[in-house]
Amino acid sequence: MVYLFCGIFGGAIIAAIVSPLFRKETTLESAIIEETEWDLLLRKKEVILGNIQDLDFEYKCGKLSDDDYKHVRAEMGAEAAAVLQKIDTLESSQDLDALIRREVGARRAHTCPTCSAANPPANKFCSECGGKLKG
Ligand SMILES: [Zn+2]
Repeated sequence: MVYLFCGIFGGAIIAAIVSPLFRKETTLESAIIEETEWDLLLRKKEVILGNIQDLDFEYKCGKLSDDDYKHVRAEMGAEAAAVLQKIDTLESSQDLDALIRREVGARRAHTCPTCSAANPPANKFCSECGGKLKG
């Protein structure tokens, strides 16, 4: 069961990461994709970090063995690192004003009202204290 879960989990992540790479080749509006690549990477980052969070949670619940956990965690960590590196590269070549605006907007929207922790956009509850986040 655990392996099945991991397989689906890993497959979904890999598909999510790989599919935009293929789409980029075939789409006409490459300029538009270029503009949104940063958003895409940020979304990917949130997904991966969310998955790591879920994985940690599953592990704490005792649903994963040590080996499974370490294996999947390492893979996810590598994926997260790759995405973060891409974001870094992209940020250094992008319009700084736009980046700041987006960063500020994202922070305002997802800061926990209870403990001030930064949360991914998809979260409805704070990852630190479990408090409800404002939609
Ligand atoms: Zn909180």
